[in-house]
Amino acid sequence: MTHNDKTFSQQVLKWFDQHGRKHLPWQQDITPYRVWISEIMLQQTQVTTVIPYFEKFMASFPGVADLANAAEDDVLHHWSGLGYYSRARNLHKAARMVMENHAGEFPQSVEALEQLPGIGRSTAGAIASISMNIRAPILDGNVKRVLARYRAIEGWPGQSAVARQLWTIAEEYTPRKQGADYTQAMMDLGAMVCTRSKPTCLICPLKDSCIAHQLGEETRFPGAKPKKDKPERAVKMLMIINQNGEVLLEKRPPTGIWGGLWGFPEIQVNGDLSEDSLREKTLQQTGINISEFEEWDSFRHTFSHYHLDITPVKTFADTTQLHSCQVQESDHWHWFQPDTPSQLGLAAPVSKLLKKIKQSL
Ligand code: SF4
Repeated sequence: MTHNDKTFSQQVLKWFDQHGRKHLPWQQDITPYRVWISEIMLQQTQVTTVIPYFEKFMASFPGVADLANAAEDDVLHHWSGLGYYSRARNLHKAARMVMENHAGEFPQSVEALEQLPGIGRSTAGAIASISMNIRAPILDGNVKRVLARYRAIEGWPGQSAVARQLWTIAEEYTPRKQGADYTQAMMDLGAMVCTRSKPTCLICPLKDSCIAHQLGEETRFPGAKPKKDKPERAVKMLMIINQNGEVLLEKRPPTGIWGGLWGFPEIQVNGDLSEDSLREKTLQQTGINISEFEEWDSFRHTFSHYHLDITPVKTFADTTQLHSCQVQESDHWHWFQPDTPSQLGLAAPVSKLLKKIKQSL
């Protein structure tokens, strides 16, 4: 470690002593399990959003065995609204692997942690440094930003050459001691000071040697992802209501958007869709004849790789028809009573629409 590297970590640690966050729920009773859950929740999600989810999750699944023994639906239910549901499915899988392959103890190295589903190098580094006292660098979104600016690294960190460069720098600066505080300090510095669009360099402990700051070009780093127009897709979500006021839900396939969650049956829309063909497609897909359509306003849900335009259609199962209500309760179909609280993993827009249906009935 050179003099500069030491100064870097010392400055960051000194700042952390005075300004870092030390009272977050996952910073109390530190265990690999709690750090792991918090790290996964914090991917793509703000601390303030994560706190209530984390607390509820811990109340229901206080340890890795509780999570491993839970039903997948129950785990997804605790994730409803957080998005990126593969994170929850991977948590569940990884918990089972920890029970089955590691006798309920998290493996004690970055390399072994990385073998668990959903744990990349940075998450493994965070778990190891915060809960196991192992010297390990991290490189989450916040740290990438601080380091890319500090050293004025050109290029988009999604490109492997740029990522490799940043990992090398992260490795250099990670101190031998106080690894847990340093990891937390770097995450805090990125989240609180070196923010994406308005870094507050004047209060930054690194301002005297930060190259991007010296250049006055802080927000040029890290480089942006090359732009591509996102494709658009359109679906109608069928909110089919039966004679008991229950709404039909369908379990989504395990992979793809909202994988494994419950949603409404969907019909893809390419161009115009007449009422007759909507009826016909619904019959093919669900075995249900529908009557009376009420189309609600469309809205857009944007995923990382495309826009989805959703048109909700409220409709009723036609009980006078032979085919109606043939859908039986199963692992795939569920007649949901909107008056009862949901224990199901629901996609976020589906949850919102169910509330609106309840008000409209
Ligand atoms: S000086 Fe500014 S740009 Fe550089 S690390 Fe600090 S906040 Fe970020």
